Amino acid sequence: MPPGGATCRCIAYTLRGWSVCWPGAAVKIYVRLDKIMNIPPKKNDHATINRQKIMKTALERFLDYVRVETTSQPEQEIVPSTSCQFDLAKILENELRELGLADAAVDEHCYVMATLPATEGKEAVPVIGWIAHLDTAPDVSGKNVNPQVIDYRGGEIGLSSGKTIPEDDALKSCLGHKLVTTDGTTLLGADNKAGIAAIMTALNRLIAENKPHGTLRVCFTPDEEVGNGTKLFDLAKFGAKYAYTVDGELPGELNRETFTAKMATITVIGREIHPGTAKGIMINAARVAAEIVALMPKDQAPETTEGYEPYLHPYSIDAGTARATIKSLLRSFHDDDMKKLEIHLEQVIEQVKSQFPGVEITLSFKEQYRNMQERLNDCPEVLEKLEEAARRTARIAKTANGQTDIDPHWKPIRGGTDGSRLTEMGLPTPNIYTGGHNFHSVTEWLSVNHLETTVQTLINLAAVWADDV
Ligand SMILES: [Zn+2]
Repeated sequence: MPPGGATCRCIAYTLRGWSVCWPGAAVKIYVRLDKIMNIPPKKNDHATINRQKIMKTALERFLDYVRVETTSQPEQEIVPSTSCQFDLAKILENELRELGLADAAVDEHCYVMATLPATEGKEAVPVIGWIAHLDTAPDVSGKNVNPQVIDYRGGEIGLSSGKTIPEDDALKSCLGHKLVTTDGTTLLGADNKAGIAAIMTALNRLIAENKPHGTLRVCFTPDEEVGNGTKLFDLAKFGAKYAYTVDGELPGELNRETFTAKMATITVIGREIHPGTAKGIMINAARVAAEIVALMPKDQAPETTEGYEPYLHPYSIDAGTARATIKSLLRSFHDDDMKKLEIHLEQVIEQVKSQFPGVEITLSFKEQYRNMQERLNDCPEVLEKLEEAARRTARIAKTANGQTDIDPHWKPIRGGTDGSRLTEMGLPTPNIYTGGHNFHSVTEWLSVNHLETTVQTLINLAAVWADDV
């Protein structure tokens, strides 16, 4: 469907240099002529845009997106790491154009970008970006996702695969909500397709309800889950002054802090010889690697820490007698804690070297991303506007049902987002909730009620920025 909605408005399109339009062929002809004739998108065609209706709910959009496989793959040189991510990117490009964002485009690296121009009188509002990633984590299959929509009445949730979603505090807080789960054989992809659905629906509603807003830029990124979401992100082309990733969890949780992240690679070179004549000669690199891991602090591991506590996480060992490689994540919120982790690892290596005379061990660190708080504190406006938008959303929820379970607060993320790198690159980018939970697992779920809260928060965020101008 071309911009303008279901009703054919041939005159409007023809006047704008597009083709004549007849039912069933409008999209193809619009796209082709637009490209062939190189007609620039009209900057702000409210006459067309504002006639739109709300096309789909956030839930409908979400269910469409999760059915498209977009699993990314680690340690690939190219972006995107998997070509299937283009399948969703192209769908999103078309949907953005249908909404009226005429410059929507997917680039060769699978970044989808589009602009919603400012409404009249709001051109001076700073350009704000909304960002979500379109890939899903490689940890669990994202193929043939079979979403289940249920009305949650309490207790654990049984999935058709036989797995269950335990009744934790997050689930308890969603009593009476409509939830989306998987069938227990794949992840759901709420991380981060809930963010995409929220952004699309918020754009749709801003346009349909003719709400004042500044210029909004949208970007859907590939390969976030494998650490490359910002690798080829063109900041100049994006052109936003501030941005928000919509990639968090439960409503109320706003994120301005992420871990600072490093990866350690430890290489062990042993001495190989036939085991029958090995006495006093062999140095078994596999045994050395096992000793190194054994000496890593067990009380500073992902499974034993929470909140602001740092950790060392040996997540991969590739070992034989002659050679072994250990990969370990280092995560902390503070630079001094990171330094302590590095020193600890260096001491472990020294100790193991003395235990295995003749062994060669090398250790190297690579920074992956930095805690974004330091730089975000330099531009408090981007945080204050988000907090105000979340507070307005909480007030609306309270008015509607007499109570609210949304308590806007800042929560550190024990991980990173595209915003961690973008902030470091010069685009301050805190993170907003989506309503999803148990990411990267077959027990992942999404509250549809909370997804609606996210949509409302984005609409309020656009309003908060526009209010000052
Ligand atoms: Zn995510």
